Amino acid sequence: MAEYLFDLRGVRKIYRMGEEKIVALEDINLTFEKGKIYCLLGTSGSGKSTLLNMLAGLEKPTKGSIIFMGKPLEKLNETQLALYRQRYVGFVFQSYNLLPTLTALENVTLPLTFRKVKKRERIQRAKVMLKAVGLGNRARHKPSELSGGQQQRVSIARAFINDPQVIFADEPTGNLDTRTTFEMMDLIIGIARERNQTLVIVTHDTEIAQYADQVIRIKDGAVESITERQAVLPGEADTKMTASIAEEIVENETENGGNENEN
Ligand code: ADP
Ligand code: MG
Repeated sequence: MAEYLFDLRGVRKIYRMGEEKIVALEDINLTFEKGKIYCLLGTSGSGKSTLLNMLAGLEKPTKGSIIFMGKPLEKLNETQLALYRQRYVGFVFQSYNLLPTLTALENVTLPLTFRKVKKRERIQRAKVMLKAVGLGNRARHKPSELSGGQQQRVSIARAFINDPQVIFADEPTGNLDTRTTFEMMDLIIGIARERNQTLVIVTHDTEIAQYADQVIRIKDGAVESITERQAVLPGEADTKMTASIAEEIVENETENGGNENEN
């Protein structure tokens, strides 16, 4: 039997705000495979970040199970969850989340600090990673001395330095202009493909979905459709987003295959 990287079974998330009950996710059943690029696509408030945070072990499902490489995440205690995040997971956030007092190089070495890698090796590896994201000459700069695009490059270097099993990117281009958006996507996709790493990108932007092997559309906390597609290669995205690609990503409900979640 094939072992999935993630296997989600009947995952629900309910937030309680006083009297009010908010169903953020209901009955999510999904599988994620190693080395594949996924896009969670949906409008604001549809539950994308909630789903990502549960995959990343930052939040627990109210019901259901998230099985990571054969082990249910909800059975882990806080210490084990922290280890899971350090060893297996890389993060890229919309707001970069760099530590402002540290240099670019120091920010990139951080995940290795938790793993007790020797200082010399940490610095060596961070330099290689910074070079890979095109910032070899910005290692000593603080985040405030870098543009938004450059800060996101630093955060991409930080996400990959640990050689994690999976990278979670929540609206990674949300604060960037159009040109920088495609540059950033080319970069992150290029590294993930080269290393055969799994990438889960959360976005409301259909243009971003071009890069994914599988587009999972989320609506009102449920999976609306799953589309398997031929992902574009780095540097080959349709930057004007022709109608045919948009249709392929968004309008597939009536087609065969891909759509496993018919309601
Ligand atoms: P998205 O990332 O797709 O914009 P979210 O996952 O952030 O959506 O939110 C899904 C729903 O859950 C929204 O209605 C949001 O208001 C609600 N929600 C998210 N986080 C919390 C929280 N910590 N407490 C209460 N409600 C929340
Ligand atoms: Mg969100």
